[in-house]
Amino acid sequence: MQKSMTDEIKIEGLVIFAHHGVYPEETKLGQTFIVNATLFTDTKAAGYSDDLTQSVNYGTACSEIYTFLTEHTYKLLEAAVEHLAAHLLHRFPLIGGVTLELKKPGAPIRYPFDCVSVKIHREWKAAAISYGSNMGDKRRYIEEALRAIEADENIRNVRCSELIETEPYGGVEQDVFLNGAAVLETLYDPEELLHFLQSLEQRAGRERLVHWGPRTLDLDIVFYEEEVIRSDDLIVPHIDMHNRAFVLEPLSQVAPGWIHPIYGKSVTALLDRLNEQ
Ligand code: ADP
Ligand code: MG
Repeated sequence: MQKSMTDEIKIEGLVIFAHHGVYPEETKLGQTFIVNATLFTDTKAAGYSDDLTQSVNYGTACSEIYTFLTEHTYKLLEAAVEHLAAHLLHRFPLIGGVTLELKKPGAPIRYPFDCVSVKIHREWKAAAISYGSNMGDKRRYIEEALRAIEADENIRNVRCSELIETEPYGGVEQDVFLNGAAVLETLYDPEELLHFLQSLEQRAGRERLVHWGPRTLDLDIVFYEEEVIRSDDLIVPHIDMHNRAFVLEPLSQVAPGWIHPIYGKSVTALLDRLNEQ
């Protein structure tokens, strides 16, 4: 989530009669649910201007929560709250994250209790990706992938660099590359983002198997927030990005100040260092 999105608009104790539950009586008769929602945003602009259009209208947010929970039926509180969070994160562009608690005071439990509830936090995460192609209609492969990325409902605010032509890296005899980078916000966790990008590589790859042979499109995760990840199939920040001008140059157009969480240097500083070598 962007650093500026730490102000909170809170909705507490919103009462909604709805039909979520595992038991048939629950979905038939319905019962009372209570919602607590914290919407993370940046209220500064609205604070200065005193203009509602620059903030999240909490009345509209309450209507959205009410309509969503009465027009859908889920067995689990977990499912209801997960889908509601996604709905709010899509519906309000000014929201960077939500904390949602869904309470069920009349849950079918045979013992005395006050309430059961599920509480989750979900937010748009900032990521940087890089991409390259050196076979066939390179520009088309990249542009098709970017269109799919922009169209994906778990991704928003994509900003792309220009595409640059670069000489092949690593000494293998092959055609010049077209490279670029983008920053975006996503609801995918890092593994999900990797799988999504790999599905786009495969989509380009299927065509390339028929027409061009291997490697038409490479999509890598460069940064994911300030996270450092070392799993079997994912290393973030990308393990070699600081040595690659074809990553750093386009990245410096869209994320010059992003700090590498291991080296503690900005993209611009890493690029300067590489150019000095
Ligand atoms: P490269 O991108 O190094 O030229 P590949 O795209 O063929 O080579 O490598 C793909 C493998 O790299 C995948 O199996 C993936 O699991 C792994 N990988 C590790 N870290 C990353 C990352 N940050 N982004 C994309 N793939 C990664
Ligand atoms: Mg790759």
